[in-house]
Formats: sequence, structure tokens, C-alpha cells
Amino acid sequence: MVRPIFDGAMKGRTMYVVPYVLGPIDSPYSRLGVEITDSAYVAASMRIMSHMGTVALDRLGASEDFVPGLHSLGDLDPARRFVLHFPEERLIWSIGSGYGGNALLGKKCFALRIASYIARSQGWMAEHMLILGLEDPSGKVTYMSAAFPSACGKTNLAMMVSTLEDQGYRVWSVGDDIAWIHVGSDGTLRAINPENGFFGVAPGTSRKSNPHIMEAMRTNSIFTNVALTPDQEPWWEGIGDPPPAGLLNWQGQPWSPDKGPAAHPNARYTVPATQSKSISPHWQDPEGVPISAIIFGGRRASLAPLVYESRDWQHGVFVGATLASETTAAATGKVGVTRRDPMAMLPFCGYNMSEYFEHWLRMGPRVKNPPKIFHVNWFRRGADGKFLWPGYGENVRVLKWMLERIEGRGEAVETPIGHVPAPGSLTLDGLNISKAAMDELMLVDPAEWAAESEAISKFFEKFGSDLPHQLRDELHTLESNLHASST
Ligand code: GDP
Ligand code: MN
Repeated sequence: MVRPIFDGAMKGRTMYVVPYVLGPIDSPYSRLGVEITDSAYVAASMRIMSHMGTVALDRLGASEDFVPGLHSLGDLDPARRFVLHFPEERLIWSIGSGYGGNALLGKKCFALRIASYIARSQGWMAEHMLILGLEDPSGKVTYMSAAFPSACGKTNLAMMVSTLEDQGYRVWSVGDDIAWIHVGSDGTLRAINPENGFFGVAPGTSRKSNPHIMEAMRTNSIFTNVALTPDQEPWWEGIGDPPPAGLLNWQGQPWSPDKGPAAHPNARYTVPATQSKSISPHWQDPEGVPISAIIFGGRRASLAPLVYESRDWQHGVFVGATLASETTAAATGKVGVTRRDPMAMLPFCGYNMSEYFEHWLRMGPRVKNPPKIFHVNWFRRGADGKFLWPGYGENVRVLKWMLERIEGRGEAVETPIGHVPAPGSLTLDGLNISKAAMDELMLVDPAEWAAESEAISKFFEKFGSDLPHQLRDELHTLESNLHASST
């Protein structure tokens, strides 16, 4: 059905042949791709997002070990828009879309969908995760990776300016979206970032929320679906400056406040990673960085506390497998509906999810000191509908507690869902937040969680008997913990 749509699709256009390396150029864990496209935007973006060009051809040599990707804008008709993955052949076809996620074939298509399929057969993992390093006052850096669904804060967390910098805690970026994770020769879990740039959501990005990216995007950057000022500067809602007179909206039409947002809610920037002052000196280490914590998170207006820690690897896999989030403009469909998105991989896993869970369960026992697994929720709301937690740079306070847990120092209390910070164990100095707000942020409400466990049970029904029994065991543990806590 799709093959004929490519017939003559590039007629009259320029065809670009784009060889690229995903991952550090010298890493044994890096991989090669070649994308053919008729979009100059794609070719230019791939130059930012991957190691593109001669370096890739040099590494490829005479080898045929690369993932071919065929992309054409076609006629941009949604009825003739298809993105196809052939995992067994390691092949990608995409037609009818110029959107990054569909058109930069090295990103979601290769680095997640095709790579997750390859990874399972080879015993590694391709995950929708940022990678960051948390530096402590002694200068030691502890690396963590985090999976949040699209537009739930990966880029911001990876590039945050810590508000505890005066206490010696700062955050280094290794990656902001995708992690390739393997068991290293030393037995630890190690991660590389297959990408070379940041492709982030623009609206809400400001000097206040993400100063690193605002500074980094001043040169060599690409903006899509943003509004345009009369000075030819990009503009979006939440950039920190009021909309100037003469603004053109993302469709190039004169904008006025009654016309809705000037920038598309999913407007994006594409920025070379090395241009950010937050970039880790180890981000191109061929062996990758050792991972001490895995964090899952989503947007939950209620239910999920600010942070909790799973009891062990298997419980952590359950926490990831039942991850849910309110939908955003980065996904299609209704905005604001709670949807399950296991490990934030539902749109990106290249094979059956039950087998994917199985693969996760198998990975933990292979690792010396498996990482601790946490869940965070920056998005809990109070009765007034406002976010209870200030988020962004203040999230370092939660990372600091995780670090203390990893080192066996942090205090926690046990709840039916796992461990939450003990009162007073989260560093709050310098933060203006009420005790009532903190109590609400930490609350694990048994009635709400009983409803959640029923929802999880329904969700698990979809998988039938394919679901690994360990996940059902974990659900039963949750149910009996809730039962015990309410009697
Ligand atoms: P990504 O797609 O997962 O990388 O998400 P981004 O980091 O690009 O953020 C998506 C949206 O979430 C942006 O509008 C951010 O401003 C917002 N966001 C990110 N971190 C936080 C946070 O800690 N608190 C709140 N309230 N919003 C956040
Ligand atoms: Mn991002």
C-alpha cells in the first residue's frame, strides 16, 4: 500500500544522502545509519542531532552494517502519511510528514524503535531516557537516567541549573531524550547518549526555566513552528518576554491575542549539545557513564507523591510498567487524559510490550549493584489547581535525596507503594513552600491508590497470559499493602 506513494515523490526536489553515527564516534556501542530525504530541514537537523557526514563514512568503511532510512515529505497529506519500521530488516520508511519525530529517522525511529528490537536480541536496552550526572560537594558525580513521556520534563531535568549550587550540588547533562544502556565490562549498567543535540519543546522555555538551553540556542540552531518577531527572532509562549508588536504566528500570519497561541504548543528547538554549558565532560566516553538510579515519572495532577523509591528491581519494573501520565500536545489525541505509557516507551517500543517487560526483568539480575528505581511527579496540583512543587531547578532537591538513598544515608518511610522521604529528609532550605503543601506532595492516599490498583489490573488484562507473572505478583503485593494499611 505504501510503496507506490513513494513513486515520483521526490520529483523536482533535492535528494540528500545523510550518513550518520549514533553515539560517541569511538564507542563500540555506537551504530550507523544512512537517511535519504528530500527535506533540507531534515538534512540540517541531522547534522545537529547526530555525528553526520565524513565521520560516519569513515567509520562505515566497506561495512554494510547500517540502518537505512527512506524519508520523503511526499505531499504532506495526512491520508498518505506513514512511518514504517521493519525490525527484522532494520529498515525505516517515512512519508508525508516533516515533523522531527517522524522525519529525523535517527531519533525515535532508529534510536528507539529499531534499536529496542536489536537491543533485546543482543542483551542491552534502548530507552526513552535522559542521562544526567549529579555532582556532590566532594566533586563526585553520580549518574542517573530518567524516563518521562514526551513533554513531561526530560530536557529540563537533564539541563537544569541546580538551586543547590551554593551547597556544591550541580547537574551535568549527558543526554536529554534517549539512552542506550548495556552491561559494561565491569558489570555495572552503563549508558551512552546516541544523540548529538537537543530537540526540545520551546513553549515554556525561558531564561528562568532553562538558562542553559537559552544561552546554547543563540547560534547554529533550528526553530520549528515558533512565532517570528519583526527582528526575525523566534518567540513562544512562556519565553519570558511579552509578545512584541508585529508578531507572526507559527503559520506566518499576523498574530493577535484573540487568535490563540502564537507558537504551536509543540514548537521545537534543535541545538548542538556541545553548546550547552551543562554538557558533561564524560558525555562522549566510549564506555558510557555508570547508572546508579533509574527514574520514572509523568504528569499526575493527584495520586503520585513528589517522589518514591521502589523496594527492589522487580518492583521498580512494575513501577515503570504501570507509568501513567496526562497527555500533552506532543502526542496525538485529547490533551489532559490520563494514559498508561509503560517506561514512556508505548509509542517507541519496537516489539511486543510483554516481551519488553520480560527483558527488563531479566536485565536487573545481570547487573552488579542494579540501580535503584524511583518515581517522581513534578505535576501534582493543589485544591487551587496550581502545581504544588516549584519544579525545574528545585528538582535537584529530589535528586539529592536519591543520591543519599543510593549512598545508604537518606531517611525514608515505608508506604504501600514504596519509600517516600522521611519528614525533614528532603533539603528545603531556601525554598518558600508551606508545610501543608509538602504534606500534600508526599501524601499516599490509600483510597486513591486502591482505585489506581484497579486501573492497573484492567490495564494488565490487555496483555492476557503474556504478561510476566512477576508484574501480577507486584500488583498483588500492592493490593495487600493497601489492604493492610487501611485496617
Ligand atoms: P521532554 O519532552 O520530556 O524533554 O520535556 P521538556 O523538558 O521539554 O518539558 C516539557 C514541558 O514541561 C515544558 O513546557 C516545560 O516547561 C515543562 N516542565 C519541565 N519540567 C517541569 C517541572 O519541573 N515542573 C513543571 N511544572 N513543568 C515542567
Ligand atoms: Mn526533550
